[in-house]
Amino acid sequence: MTVTERQMMAGHDIPSGENIDAIACVTDAPSMARGACPSLSAPMITGDGLLVRLRPTTPGLTIGQFRALAQAAERHGNGLIEITARGNLQLRGMTAENMPGLAADITHAGIIPETGVTIETLPLSGLDPLEIADARKLATLLRQQIAALDPQPALAPKLTIIIDAGGRLNLDAISADIRLRAARTADNSTVWVLAIGGTAQTSRPLASLSPEQSIPAIIELLKTLALIGPHARGRDLDVGSLRMAYRSPDVSVLGIAGRHVSPIGIHPLGSDHLALGLSPSFGQIHAKALLSFLAIAEDAGASEIRTAPEHAILVLGLDVQAAGTVQLAAADRGFRTRADDPSNHVDVCAGAGACASAFYATKSAAADLLDLAPALLDGSLTVHLSGCRKGCAHPGNSAVTIVGAPMGYGVVVNGSASSEPVAYIGKEELKSALAEMNRLVRNNKVAGESTKECLTRLGTDAIVTALRQG
Ligand code: SF4
Repeated sequence: MTVTERQMMAGHDIPSGENIDAIACVTDAPSMARGACPSLSAPMITGDGLLVRLRPTTPGLTIGQFRALAQAAERHGNGLIEITARGNLQLRGMTAENMPGLAADITHAGIIPETGVTIETLPLSGLDPLEIADARKLATLLRQQIAALDPQPALAPKLTIIIDAGGRLNLDAISADIRLRAARTADNSTVWVLAIGGTAQTSRPLASLSPEQSIPAIIELLKTLALIGPHARGRDLDVGSLRMAYRSPDVSVLGIAGRHVSPIGIHPLGSDHLALGLSPSFGQIHAKALLSFLAIAEDAGASEIRTAPEHAILVLGLDVQAAGTVQLAAADRGFRTRADDPSNHVDVCAGAGACASAFYATKSAAADLLDLAPALLDGSLTVHLSGCRKGCAHPGNSAVTIVGAPMGYGVVVNGSASSEPVAYIGKEELKSALAEMNRLVRNNKVAGESTKECLTRLGTDAIVTALRQG
């Protein structure tokens, strides 16, 4: 393939369709800083209109608030509601004219979107008996202290802090600039492990701190980041000098990544309380289906819904029997209800038919993937189907990403939708390429090996060869 052909396939010289740099704001909204998250005041233009991302200030929404949100999504947008990989809410398909109405309805419902530095805590924080410390209290204190800084530090728009106090679920797979994670010491006291950049596994631990030391330490890191520049991220900090400053003993023992627990399923919270975890199929549900689900959940006793990572929601207030009823009703309305559902490991954006930027119908491709390449979906890796290079469904890296291009599909290995593909597939070749990928894994996986380990051992060249055979 010539360079020109590769560019054509990748859409580098095609003016129509969006790419990762095409994020823009509506003209009558305040300017959205480059790379900032789309908000009510600065929505993002996508192929199906304006997109708003919401993270309410409260841990969850009442059923009434969720209903109001669904009604607003239908009244002012195209009715599609998404739960993102980080557990944010997204509403799609608005126009500049109906943004004020949407904002008014959201305010009227008592939903207050969070602003400022993103501070994430576990979705069951405050309810989970396995939680080591009160992460929400720490997050509130941190927010107050950041707000009190004068001058306010100029920080990167997407800068994220995770405060993880342990518990049934964890945020290990989510990357953050600054990560604070609670741990118990041998004498049963609580320490907070401070780390920077990456997921729990890839972040670099700096120090083990007492609860009192934690907030001042984060404030200092924020000031240091501001000094580096307004786009500085956790990865830009100098780990060596920070470790020396903290004089923590052996930081190599501080990296603690927990066991992954899917938010989907029933999570006991002690003394008859539970959380029912569900995920809208491929992270997206229409307001009509959601309203129908909410009516059944409310009748069954649900009182609150919290959003969670991995495109999930957690329904609270149900007893065991009611949870079973709601689970069945959810399955009928397009929710995934099982943690071992192979489709939990496929990230899919709105795609053709819902988004004008899409080069292919991602949801029917997802059905083909489930049908033709089950060996890929053993749960050890995620396949990302992205209609274009923007990568709305999963901004980070995935083991395999199939990204739409003007003449077909690009295949990215261990990268994001905007990364350079290792191979291209023609428009008619996706099904056979998926079947070849399935054959590659099935014929080469050794006993005890996961699909991820198998593909890592075989290497990118073997994947490209299989795709070409397809
Ligand atoms: S990634 Fe998908 S939903 Fe996002 S703009 Fe591209 S095609 Fe549309």
